[in-house]
Formats: sequence, C-alpha cells, structure tokens
Amino acid sequence: MAHIKLHIPGPVEVSEKTFKAFCQPMIGHRGQAFKDLVAKVQPQLQTLLGTKQLPYLSTSSAWGVMEGSLRNLTQKKVLNCMKGAFSDKWLDVAKRCGKEAEPLQVPWGSPIRPEQIDAKLATGQFDSLTLIHNETSTGTMSPLVEIAALKKKYPDVMFIVDAVTSMTALPLNFDALGIDVLLAGTQKAFALPPGLSIFTASPAALAKAALAKDRGYYFDFVEFQKNAADHMTPSTPSISHVYALSSKLDDFFAEGLEARYARHTKTNQMTRDWAAKHGFTLFPETGYESITLTCVNNGAKPGGRTVDAAKLQKSAKDQGFLIDGGYGKIKGTTFRLSNMGDETPETMNQLYAALDSAMAKL
Ligand SMILES: *Cc1c(COP(=O)(O)O)cnc(C)c1O
Repeated sequence: MAHIKLHIPGPVEVSEKTFKAFCQPMIGHRGQAFKDLVAKVQPQLQTLLGTKQLPYLSTSSAWGVMEGSLRNLTQKKVLNCMKGAFSDKWLDVAKRCGKEAEPLQVPWGSPIRPEQIDAKLATGQFDSLTLIHNETSTGTMSPLVEIAALKKKYPDVMFIVDAVTSMTALPLNFDALGIDVLLAGTQKAFALPPGLSIFTASPAALAKAALAKDRGYYFDFVEFQKNAADHMTPSTPSISHVYALSSKLDDFFAEGLEARYARHTKTNQMTRDWAAKHGFTLFPETGYESITLTCVNNGAKPGGRTVDAAKLQKSAKDQGFLIDGGYGKIKGTTFRLSNMGDETPETMNQLYAALDSAMAKL
C-alpha cells in the first residue's frame, strides 16, 4: 500500500535517513559501544536544551515521564494547568497516582497566564505544578518564559514542563528558565519513531526525588541520574531509538539550531497564510498560536469559514497526505496541520497544493 505522508501533529513523518540509523545492528546496553553512543548524544542534547544537567533517555512515550514526574516530585499537592486534551489529562493521571491535585482550567484555545498560576501558588498549598508548553490538541502555546519567572517567587514548587511539540522547534533554555523538569516524546517535534522520551531534571528535583519513598523503579529520577552519569539507562532501552536520535541530532546541528527554529517559524506562517487565504480563522487566542502545528477554526468558535472536515481529510488522504480532523471535543469543529520535524517550505507547499485541490471540490 502506498505510504500516506503524515501531516498530523504526531507521530510525524520519519525520514529514510532516520530509519536507516534506527535499523543498525543491535549492541549490548552495558557495553562500551552503547556508552560511547550515549556519551555522544548527551552533550548534543545539553546544547539543544540549554542545560548543564544530564539529559535522560526513557524508553516510553511522553506519558511515562509525565506520570513519573508526579511520582518523583509531588508529595503535597500538584497544580495541573489545563488548556486542552493533553494538559487536562494530567489531572486525571495525578489522581490515578493517588496524588492530591487541583485544576487550573482555562477555556480550550486560551493560554495559561502567569498571573493565574501566581494566584494559585500564593495559597501555599502546592509543591508542584504541571504545564504543557505547546498544547497540541488546540495548537496553543503558553508564555513559558514568563511562567518560569515565577519559579523565583516559589522556589520550593517543582515546575514540570511538557515540551512534546515544541522541543527542537524553538529555543528552550532549561537552566536559564530555572524550571525543574523538561520533557518530550520523540515522535513529534523530533521526527523520530514513537517509543522514546527525552527529559532532564534540576538539582532540586533530583534532591526531592531522592526523598520520595514511593517513586517506583522504571521512572525513578535518581536511577536515571546515576545511570546517565555512566552513559547508560536504568533498564534496557530501545537502542534503535538512540541510534536514530544520534543521527537526528547530527541533522539538527548540520542545519544549525537557529536555522531550524527559523524554518519552523516560516513553515508555520505559511500554514497560517494558507488558512487565511481560504477564509478560515485560527482556533487559538491571537498571539498564542503554536509554531509547530496550526489548529484551524472550523466552527468551534465564531468567525471564519467552515467546511466538512471529514471530507477535507478524506480528499487530502486520497492525494497522499494525512491531516488531522480535530481532537476530543473540538473534533470536526477544528482541524490541524503539522509543520513539525523535517518539513520545509517546499514540502509544505506540496501539502497546500493538495489541500487547495481538496477545497476546490468541497
Ligand atoms: C502527544 C502528546 C503527549 C502524549 O504523548 P504520548 O506519546 O502519547 O505519551 C503529551 N503531551 C503533548 C503536548 C503531546 O502532544
């Protein structure tokens, strides 16, 4: 069957070069070759994340580390900043882990604002918070730098940040932000196959984790730190993913991080322009739009054009492109187009051409 190219916001299209790297012969995860491989990617990841802390490789999707962060860092109560399907789900996950948790819910499409977090943290009830930088279900990005600035006022609160669909697309300087956990799964902005997550933790987070009696084993931050110091992982990792990651990081640095960030800004602007050209408005509040995916308003809120999203999706698919027809409660009343990963102006233009032709037939 012919491959349908992925323009959904994850998993995204994986290049042939990455697949080739993924398929290298297996090696032992306690041997020197694997340690050399990890020792090679660690400084690359440190540059990418703007940190002197050790980056960790978790063989899991992002949710593993998202849940693990709570097990390691929430002792008192967690504030779950909620603005869409993924961030909303974190409250449910906290409760399933037996944690005390409280929502800070804003309408889907709105960002989380620092003053809203400040008001909650001022109650003194919380020792941790979860935030999704770029909420993929709504295509909405919260102002991370301004939110992270609150850490100075609340040094004992652990700031846990999901950057699943923003890491690699814009600068995230972990040490300068001063936050405690930064994490991402690799099947989205990294354009690797699903199954690996990358994260890092602050010294304060590691110290706090060490005191948590019920932090489990698989996602134990202390184990990750100890093993990363030896260029290893606590348990047998997906070694294939580490090969692929190494190849991908070489791609990032060959392109140049600044050029990579600029490419995402450009291709995202092109998608917004495509939507405007067809009379659509965007779902996120103006000024808070994601730069890795575009959530097009298709009746979820007043204004702009509406079309049969399922028909648009079907017609795009018939032409070889998979787009997303909206997530959760805004399925159909929005649709989403991804420019994550390796997409360039040229490849995006191929998508717009297919969508133009689909629109003409609606
Ligand atoms: C996709 C996604 C997740 C969940 O990732 P899994 O790989 O399914 O665990 C979490 N957060 C964000 C922002 C996402 O886009």
